Amino acid sequence: MRRLAVVGHPVAHSRSPAMHNAAFAALGLAGEWSYEAIDLAPERFAAGIAGLRERGFAGVNVTVPHKRAACELADARSDAVAAIGAANTLSFTAAGIRADNTDAGGLLAALPAGFDPRGAASLVLGAGGSARAAAWALAGAGAEVTIANRTASRAAALAAELGATAVPLPAPGAGFDLGGFDLLVNATSVGLATPGAPPPAPGADLKALRLEADQLVSPLVVVDLVYGSEPTELAATSISGGATLIDGLEVLVRQGADSFRIWVGREPPIEVMRSAIRDSR
Ligand code: NAP
Repeated sequence: MRRLAVVGHPVAHSRSPAMHNAAFAALGLAGEWSYEAIDLAPERFAAGIAGLRERGFAGVNVTVPHKRAACELADARSDAVAAIGAANTLSFTAAGIRADNTDAGGLLAALPAGFDPRGAASLVLGAGGSARAAAWALAGAGAEVTIANRTASRAAALAAELGATAVPLPAPGAGFDLGGFDLLVNATSVGLATPGAPPPAPGADLKALRLEADQLVSPLVVVDLVYGSEPTELAATSISGGATLIDGLEVLVRQGADSFRIWVGREPPIEVMRSAIRDSR
């Protein structure tokens, strides 16, 4: 049996095992490949990965908070990993650990059919790990990338690195003018539900993102990387306003599909993976 896992902390909520195991079953590979979730606290990450290699695992997906550490412990890195400084896919080979970042390609693959990122005016909200991957992917695909973040200095640093433009957040109570943008990517953690905490007041997430509902209209494409058991406020408002929404689950499917290709070397059954991930709430 070739074993795979998603490694994170916490990780019990991950939908990746359901998605990959459904793909293996659909391709008749369930007797050869399996995928599980493994919780590793940050101080145990390097030793834990070494232990998985010794136990014969073929590779892992890496999620919060280990993506940077995964980049650092790899013996070989894809161009995306080298540029982004974070990895979400590790492959264990005889030559060592190879690191890939399929969050970047996954975002591009999730864009609507017919949407050409070349020359597309794109606003990326956030300057953390997933914003780095999104901005790098979009810039590499020829988009014009603008970055805005709560901590403006982080947006400025990321924009300078990528040859993108940084803009300040509009003042509290005001919103971005999205009229000149083709694509909006929420790569902040705004919209992420906190287990046990009451949901935010209606309008609070849009306010935090400096977005106004009447700007989330056709033909804008909105990618919200955040997902949970319920649609985020940004996702729900984008749909009701008429913008084209790509939600975080679709991006998760696409990054998973790219990881699957790397490990298994076969074309993954995307529709099976999509159904498995949407059913595993
Ligand atoms: P991260 O590195 O911790 O970055 C978080 C970002 O959110 C920072 O830019 C931070 O701004 C901003 N932020 C946090 N709270 C905010 C608030 N109240 N108002 C405005 N901005 C706020 O996180 P990450 O790894 O990039 O992940 C971000 C989100 O993307 C998470 O929800 C994650 O689950 C999701 N994600 C989804 C996928 C997928 O496949 N769908 C893949 C990767 C990540 P400051 O710099 O000011 O702190």
